[in-house]
Amino acid sequence: MTTATQTKYEAIIGLETHCQLNTNSKIFCSCSTNFDSPPNTNVCPVCLGHPGVLPVLNQEVLNSAIKMGLALQGKIARYSKFDRKQYFYPDLPKNYQISQYDLPIVENGQLEIEIVDPKTQEVTKKIIGITRLHMEEDAGKLVHAGSDRLAGSTHSLVDFNRTGVPLLEIVSEPDLRTGQEAAEYAQELRRLVRYLGISDGNMQEGSLRCDVNISVRPVGQKEFGVKVEIKNMNSFSAIQKAIEYEIERQIEAINEGEAIVQETRLWEEGSQRTISMRSKEGSSDYRYFPEPDLPPLVINEAQLEEISKTLPELPANKRSRYEAEFGLSAYDARVLSDDKDVASYFEAVVANGASVKGAANWITQDIAAYLNSNPDLDINKIALTPEMLAELIKLIEEGTISGKIAKEILPELLEKGGSPKEIVESKGLVAISNPDELSTIIDKILAENPDKLEQYRAGKTKLQGFFVGQIMKATSGRADPKLANQILNQKLNG
Ligand SMILES: [Zn+2]
Repeated sequence: MTTATQTKYEAIIGLETHCQLNTNSKIFCSCSTNFDSPPNTNVCPVCLGHPGVLPVLNQEVLNSAIKMGLALQGKIARYSKFDRKQYFYPDLPKNYQISQYDLPIVENGQLEIEIVDPKTQEVTKKIIGITRLHMEEDAGKLVHAGSDRLAGSTHSLVDFNRTGVPLLEIVSEPDLRTGQEAAEYAQELRRLVRYLGISDGNMQEGSLRCDVNISVRPVGQKEFGVKVEIKNMNSFSAIQKAIEYEIERQIEAINEGEAIVQETRLWEEGSQRTISMRSKEGSSDYRYFPEPDLPPLVINEAQLEEISKTLPELPANKRSRYEAEFGLSAYDARVLSDDKDVASYFEAVVANGASVKGAANWITQDIAAYLNSNPDLDINKIALTPEMLAELIKLIEEGTISGKIAKEILPELLEKGGSPKEIVESKGLVAISNPDELSTIIDKILAENPDKLEQYRAGKTKLQGFFVGQIMKATSGRADPKLANQILNQKLNG
């Protein structure tokens, strides 16, 4: 290693995120936004850019943009407008995109993210600035025939169904420093749009697309290094890995005396590296000008008030409330509030009388595992209702059944539902908590294992576990564990 490697570097990272809204119709016409439709069936003269047609703004798009702006604690413009961004590409029938340029609908927001230490699960919070949020229309989609990439294909087909689908573009300040922070930022954005119900936020299907801008500089240096853009990441882990790779690559290049080229790079999932796509000299000149076919947007206070009343409790607020109200750790609060429906389920289980700890454990462990192995299910679709889970937890907490028995009947409850109490009674699974009955069983086990008993009394106290195992075996897991241990202790040491 050369001495240059001793220099400490830091990465400066900003994200540009495109979020596809889930409105029924497109942003400027009444065409459907349905994605399962055959190619070029959700099109009309407006979204195909025929001469003489007039776009009309879908009010739902503006409402969604304002909701997101409020959720990001941004400044909502009282006066805003649309602009034409001119460029030529085969998937853009008008040869311009209607977007927003100098007067975006939202500016100066912020997003609180949580960084979890992977080893200790300790959570630290950080505020990331949001430069702006604006509305725009999506372009169409090119399908390269004969190959899944442009190179190697024989010809390309264009599908205009996506043309005019509404997008929010959200631009962060360059406040992110690591791949983990960037991935967490994108995840928190997804939580927000899902909580607000304005997008499904699905990265694999392209509803949430992130472009990363990244440069490195020696720690202490004020000027930014040369910025590289990375595209093509379709998962949070890909964002993290692409950034980590790129930081290494840039530091290595600087240490070797190479100049960083301003360019766009693609993340290659297969080889786990970024590759150069095209160099980017200066910023493109899109010749923006105000869209003459759409009136400027004037937002009044009453409208803002109306929309702000519809906002649900947001993820960060829910996390703080879970810590304060339920005494959960920051980590558990985070896991339970990640999905809005899981959070509602959890709150319903607690409201039905289960302990917070019990509800949290069952939901984050057994039920989460079940949902993971059944990706088509979500928590609202399982047969085990919050009331039933609360009943099950209470049966354990009252000592009627052991946790082991509860786990045994759980698969049936998840598939078919039913009253845990009735299932336990009809199957004769109620715990044995009669001291005389347990005492007889334990006496028999000790009598059957004289060698083990002798070893125990000679100091091999680890054998207690063996005896507990035998008790559970003899009672098919029905022995009240606390009581059984107590009696066993008396007999072993008495
Ligand atoms: Zn249309």
